[in-house]
Amino acid sequence: MTGEWLTAWDRSAGARTAAELFRSRFGAEPDGVWSAPGRVNLIGEHTDYNGGLCLPIDLPHRTYVALRRRDDDVLRLVSEREHAMWTGTADQVHPGADLGWAAYAAGVAWALNASSDLAPGVRIAGFDAAVTSCVPYGAGLSSSAALESAVAVALNDVCDLGLGGSDAGRAVLAAACVRAENEIAGAPTGGMDQSSSLRAQPGHALLLDTRDGTVRHVPFDLSAHGLALLVIDTRAEHQLADGQYANRRATCEAAAARLGRATLREIGAGAELEAALAVLSEPGDGEAQTTVKRVRHVVTEIARVEQFVALLDDGRVAEVGPLMDASHVSLRDDYEVSCAELDLAVTVARSSGALGARMTGGGFGGSAIALVEAGSVDRIATEIADAFGEAGFTAPVFLVADASAPADRDTD
Ligand code: ADP
Ligand code: MG
Repeated sequence: MTGEWLTAWDRSAGARTAAELFRSRFGAEPDGVWSAPGRVNLIGEHTDYNGGLCLPIDLPHRTYVALRRRDDDVLRLVSEREHAMWTGTADQVHPGADLGWAAYAAGVAWALNASSDLAPGVRIAGFDAAVTSCVPYGAGLSSSAALESAVAVALNDVCDLGLGGSDAGRAVLAAACVRAENEIAGAPTGGMDQSSSLRAQPGHALLLDTRDGTVRHVPFDLSAHGLALLVIDTRAEHQLADGQYANRRATCEAAAARLGRATLREIGAGAELEAALAVLSEPGDGEAQTTVKRVRHVVTEIARVEQFVALLDDGRVAEVGPLMDASHVSLRDDYEVSCAELDLAVTVARSSGALGARMTGGGFGGSAIALVEAGSVDRIATEIADAFGEAGFTAPVFLVADASAPADRDTD
């Protein structure tokens, strides 16, 4: 059995599908088409809401938004993935409103208007938008941030916000996308996905320091080393995921507060971690034991990002495998966000010759990544697909990730 492959759309073809959807649903020409990528995180999982470090790359898979500015406050949104057109007005977009998928698009305009970062007198009114995408939903590859980021760069251009041309401006757009996701869509995620989609560079991994929002572009060219990054979408979806994410975040925040620190980033690995865990292990009940495991994951994971980047800086990319493996074990055993499908993908990738493998994204399903010799991509994918078949799991979907381009305009 060979698995199914998800190839990225060619960018001009993707832009064309969005423009055609716009014309067919709105009977007019869009002002333009913009697109933004999904991302895959190399290492640094569940660190972004702890002031920590993460290291995503942008995927070649993108979400395309054809958009036309309106002078009134009406919003009309269509996606080829969703049945009905969402029609509303700007005043219907507010925290607590149940907007479904429209939250991820309309919420960005709301967040930009709510921020203090727009020039005086600038306000985003209504718009019509048509969305097409080759980023799978809920696969841990961040279709949500791809949609938000494509809308953000579109609104930036049609409303002349002047935020798209610099990293500082893109950081403002990313912050608005995070607010849209947290406050309008109601998903308490950190800022990694939006920063990656808006601020990464092709051929580079994005070292994001979520304590101060600074970024560094770390060269990441696997093909120059005869390597490839295989992404395995396990197709596993777990119902509890949302509540579990919020629950992990709350545990981390409570632990930091108990230690008198702003975030878990303030705890160093080594002796400092041991001292913190000794405090948190009291009173010795199950809840304390759980907190110890969660904190140990976050602090050691941040250290692994530093070690991973040091190897990349040294040109020793083939040596990062053990850090990926250790990240997976920590996510599985201490953070407890893996699942049978992710564990199987990782185990089979390694036994088939991957240099390292780990789950990526929030967990409870979604995707795993494996660093492999370029010539063994097909063989390793086949072995994983076979193992999924034998285990009775849904067939996985594969893609190969090259560090690709961030959100931008596609057509004039
Ligand atoms: P992930 O970001 O890992 O793919 P999320 O649960 O964060 O998963 O986001 C998925 C949600 O984002 C979808 O259920 C939908 O509401 C919205 N979304 C993402 N892409 C699109 C799209 N192309 N069209 C409409 N809604 C989308
Ligand atoms: Mg998401």
